[in-house]
Amino acid sequence: MIDLSQLIRPSVRALQPYSSARNEYSGISDVYLDANENPSGTLNRYPDPFQGELKARISELKKLPASSIFIGNGSDEIIDLLFRLFCDPGKDSVVILPPTYGMYEVCAALNDTDVLTCPLDTAFDIDLLTLLPMFTEQNVKVLFLCSPNNPTGNVLSPDRILEVLNQFNGIVVVDEAYIDFSNTTSWINQLERFKNLVVLQTMSKAFGLAAARVGIAYASPIIVEYLTKIKPPYNVSLLNQRAALERLSEIALVQKEIDQLKIERERLSLELTKIPCCIHLFPSEANFLLVQFTDADAVYYFLKKNGIIVRNRNTQISGCLRITVGLPKENDLLLNTLKSFNQ
Ligand SMILES: *Cc1c(COP(=O)(O)O)cnc(C)c1O
Repeated sequence: MIDLSQLIRPSVRALQPYSSARNEYSGISDVYLDANENPSGTLNRYPDPFQGELKARISELKKLPASSIFIGNGSDEIIDLLFRLFCDPGKDSVVILPPTYGMYEVCAALNDTDVLTCPLDTAFDIDLLTLLPMFTEQNVKVLFLCSPNNPTGNVLSPDRILEVLNQFNGIVVVDEAYIDFSNTTSWINQLERFKNLVVLQTMSKAFGLAAARVGIAYASPIIVEYLTKIKPPYNVSLLNQRAALERLSEIALVQKEIDQLKIERERLSLELTKIPCCIHLFPSEANFLLVQFTDADAVYYFLKKNGIIVRNRNTQISGCLRITVGLPKENDLLLNTLKSFNQ
């Protein structure tokens, strides 16, 4: 049995958190003279620090108690908070599986935390033979898995993630930023079983709210309580909370957009394989494609010159560009431009 509080940094356990005005009085009243707000205006009041309405809506949608839901100012904020919660600077370490999302390493560096790397295998899946022995190394607190993985686009095999959850006594983060584009089931269904599991999702990708900055962590209530203890008091603005609620009220429309995007992903995949400069296309369950080209840098600059910006991942994965699936006409433009590329 994992003792979660033993994984929390001692200084965080001992921390007396800041208590905001809206924390000390959260009811409805006539006159508020407690938060040094400007009495006039429309955005003059501090927002709900605990995002009650938004959590209630997400709770209903995901069929999970609100006590296992944490909202961040984007999931990037949550990644940083996880370091601050579990990793003692200069002492603890984390494991990442490159090539993967870059923020894990950046947040590690910012929090003076060592990073152990266990590269994904040739199919971009978990290399268990290398990974499992790492769990016995001293002070490995958190493991970051990204599925579907950015920038490779594939889902990590559920069997291997399960093996990791069964073997690792630290925190297992499964970053599901792209889950809504995939056919795989979310790990949020396993939270009851694995108290050390933290699932990250975001409204930035499938929900089309990148500008609003709303990220979600699903975890055991103890972890959610600690995250709440260390977060900036009003980390999710009223505008963010409103935008998220509004979007969640039109789920059918969101689903239609996702379905459309998946159709475009398949069409783009098929068409790309017919283009000479495109050597290999990696299978994707996300809203982007990882594509290997004859000369990735040359293709990158050629596209840029023609007004199309893709992500150059050549230094991370040799010969590869990451291409986000766009609108049908944007994808057409991409395909036509690539066809005119002379290698
Ligand atoms: C885009 C992305 C994020 C960041 O999401 P925000 O909620 O916008 O901060 C997190 N993880 C992965 C894997 C991503 O690709």
